Amino acid sequence: MQQPYRWVLPSLVLSLGLTACASHRDGKVASRPDIIPAEDWGSKPDPMAESREQVPVRITIHHAGVLWEDGSDPYQKIRALQTWGKRDKQWPDVPYHYLIAPDGRIFEGRDWNYEGETNTEYDTNGHLLVQLWGNFDKQSVKKAQFDSAVRLVAWLCQDRAILPTTIRGHRDWSTQTTCPGKDLYRQIQNGEFLSRVQQLLD
Ligand SMILES: [Zn+2]
Repeated sequence: MQQPYRWVLPSLVLSLGLTACASHRDGKVASRPDIIPAEDWGSKPDPMAESREQVPVRITIHHAGVLWEDGSDPYQKIRALQTWGKRDKQWPDVPYHYLIAPDGRIFEGRDWNYEGETNTEYDTNGHLLVQLWGNFDKQSVKKAQFDSAVRLVAWLCQDRAILPTTIRGHRDWSTQTTCPGKDLYRQIQNGEFLSRVQQLLD
């Protein structure tokens, strides 16, 4: 009578798997967008302390807070951010987990298994940090950039089992900043960003 028991575990695993899949009611699955790997932009992070490990449970959106000028090179920008952070802030890597250029290209930043960095007072532990280049207090978010942010965040929610309703702007966690800037924050606050993410998941 060993045989029946051998079936219990595999069928339990199978049924749990099916239950998880069933949350995508009409079978939609957010596909992984193209992401430029950290090695490809020449990332040279310092080793990360174990004390900085995290499990991401929410997504927090940022802007760079610096005007994006046409013709800027995001490869140069991300390397400069890493160099500055290491030198002036003693940050082991870029502060964000993903960074998105105005043309929609997505760059891999810090390993998301480690908490990000901030110049403000909130605790970044548990936050997956997504930054869009530009200053959206003074500029508008480009369509390609917004679309990439939606696709990336939908995929992150699905892949890391993060609830889309946890999507916030930096300023929702800090009184010291207007980040992610007026134009982007408006689209987070009015539910536009969330509804676009949910269209890819539901
Ligand atoms: Zn921010």
